[in-house]
Amino acid sequence: MNDLKNTSNLAAIDAAHHLHPFSDMKELNAKGTRIIERAEGVFIYDSTGKRYLDAFAGLWCVNVGYGRKSIAEAAARQMQELPYYNAFFGTTTPPATLLAQKIASHTGEKLKRIFFTNSGSEATDTWFRMARVFWKALGKPQKTQVIARRNGYHGSTVAGASLGGMKLMHEQGNLPIEGIHHIGQPYWYAEGGDLSPADFGLKVARELEAKIDELGEDQVAAFVAEPIQGAGGVIIPPETYWPEIARICKARNILLVVDEVICGFGRLGEWFGHQYYGIEPDLAPIAKGLSSGYLPIGGVLVSDRVADVMVEELGDFHHGFTYSGHPVCAAAALENIRILEEERLVERARDHIGPYFAAAWKSLEDHEVVGEAQSVGLMGGLQLAADKSTRRRFAKPDEVGMLVRNHCLQNGLIMRATGDRMLASPPLTINRPEVDEVIDTLRKALDHLRDAKM
Ligand code: PLP
Repeated sequence: MNDLKNTSNLAAIDAAHHLHPFSDMKELNAKGTRIIERAEGVFIYDSTGKRYLDAFAGLWCVNVGYGRKSIAEAAARQMQELPYYNAFFGTTTPPATLLAQKIASHTGEKLKRIFFTNSGSEATDTWFRMARVFWKALGKPQKTQVIARRNGYHGSTVAGASLGGMKLMHEQGNLPIEGIHHIGQPYWYAEGGDLSPADFGLKVARELEAKIDELGEDQVAAFVAEPIQGAGGVIIPPETYWPEIARICKARNILLVVDEVICGFGRLGEWFGHQYYGIEPDLAPIAKGLSSGYLPIGGVLVSDRVADVMVEELGDFHHGFTYSGHPVCAAAALENIRILEEERLVERARDHIGPYFAAAWKSLEDHEVVGEAQSVGLMGGLQLAADKSTRRRFAKPDEVGMLVRNHCLQNGLIMRATGDRMLASPPLTINRPEVDEVIDTLRKALDHLRDAKM
């Protein structure tokens, strides 16, 4: 067994049998995959024993950090008591019901119900159907069109990839599917031209109004966006953006769907991203931080506006997953939320480590190749620039991002690059010396980019 698990054996087995998500398999098989074996706190360790500081919390999800024994114990206890039962046909399990109540204790007054899924992508498919059945139940079956944003990300199912605004995803599989439309994103640095960020925020928000006019208000079911675009590059919108979007959705009577899959559970220093921006969603998909990634679980937060219609008017909602509200995943999520509460990790992200991280991140703006370094809570986006005085970007954005990312990786830091933006999203438990380590290692990678003269 030990032999089987050594690095070169595992890499060979992996190349022979394992197709990876979002990976060029030919390239990966030639290089050999990185094998992560264990983790503790903010650190992960690969099969050669190398340590990395994971400034990405896995995939934006390990909010309470690695190695929480109490989550493992909660899951093990539940597995022994009741490893599985479903929530179909009038049944539930104690953890699923108690988790629904626990989540509701952190949402706004009008967002008290949840439909469970196993992932963010399934949550996307779920609200997409809910939005349509909501309008149908209200006697407006023609209100089916959904508006999303270019460079948004909402998952990898067919509806998720269609709603996302990623060209490379659309090209594979003839997407988007019918009934989905995209408007611009609030990415001032790249697309704001001579406008001030505030004016640009209003301008892109008003693209929503123009799109509603084009499609006809009576045809549009919903608009969806992430509070801060994550995979798109941690695009933090100008402050004028969200109030205007919320105003338009209300004035034009379309559902506002806020994708909380990344921003939920403390990432922005509030329990949910919509609370940070002071807006009230009608529907809000969640996942990731709900269990800190320890087990797969997601869901859709449903406002009274939608839930009341579903309960009173709809009858059966013909939708659900075998593992919706899985008791073991729910038990792990309950323990995860208990940790977030007990250690006050959300408040920590807002009042303590968040401001420290923000100042350290911002300090990178003095570097020649950094155009802008922004963050909210523990989510940071850093814009690489060839000439910061004119906001001129590098000619090959993907290559510069990968150069910086790979330098970080070689030096024991996990960062992600989206084009020419460097993204950070560490566990909410990260401490000051660990933040300093992120910044020092990243700064060296930025020096490397400057010296590479790209
Ligand atoms: N929505 C957002 C904003 C995401 O970032 C993601 C995943 O990264 C998803 C949805 C899809 O979640 P999952 O990968 O759990 O299906």
